[in-house]
Amino acid sequence: MSGTTGVTLTVLGCSGTYPGDGGACSGYLVRSPGASLVVDLGAGSLSNLQRHLAIGEVDAVVLSHVHPDHWLDLPVLRNAMRYVLGIGGLPVYGTAETWLMAEVIIGELPPTMLWHTIDESSVVEVGDQVLRFSRTDHPVETLAVRVDAGGRSLLYSADTGSAWYPGETGADVDLMLCEASLPHDHEGQVQHLSARQAGKLARTLGAGRLVVTHVVPGVDAGGQLDMAGQAFGGPVELAAANTSFDV
Ligand SMILES: [Zn+2]
Ligand SMILES: [Zn+2]
Repeated sequence: MSGTTGVTLTVLGCSGTYPGDGGACSGYLVRSPGASLVVDLGAGSLSNLQRHLAIGEVDAVVLSHVHPDHWLDLPVLRNAMRYVLGIGGLPVYGTAETWLMAEVIIGELPPTMLWHTIDESSVVEVGDQVLRFSRTDHPVETLAVRVDAGGRSLLYSADTGSAWYPGETGADVDLMLCEASLPHDHEGQVQHLSARQAGKLARTLGAGRLVVTHVVPGVDAGGQLDMAGQAFGGPVELAAANTSFDV
């Protein structure tokens, strides 16, 4: 139980590719009355997580893909649980590739972490949160994550290029958390989105509001926000570490 009444999204880290000075890579805490879910756990995000709840209060972790900016705090989370806090049994959901890499780096996952391999067809329940997935346009198997709880819904794009369209998984979402890695003039060069493309996608999906994330250090975040807002035409905000949004 999370102790909250509505559904909230708290940013634990939002730097794309690597954390800038004082920053943290992708990590998000989704809290509902019945669960506290961590989606991605990139470098630096475990530290910020503890500003918001104790490690033992996390009900499950979902990892979108194997790229290190999305999960490399998992091995040190395991350190904390196993060697310091003496707790275990944490469900962790991720792709098959991420599991192979986690086993190499961490070694034996159970009993500290209980691994569940997921793909785009998986449906996962964590307390009162129902999770669905959509495979994105990215060089490795990458899962966008939709969370429904208490009549509210959130869609997290994870990392994706412009060929991704989530279909039903993206229908009628209240809040879209969408990556906007690329400056405008790099659009289409790699499998990531520009802010314009993120805004356009959110508009096509009819998202209630847009939160732009995964801005790479050195890219002008304010400029990304403006460009996403113009393309979306609705309420848009910029993800920032330790900022919370009502879903
Ligand atoms: Zn990334
Ligand atoms: Zn990636």
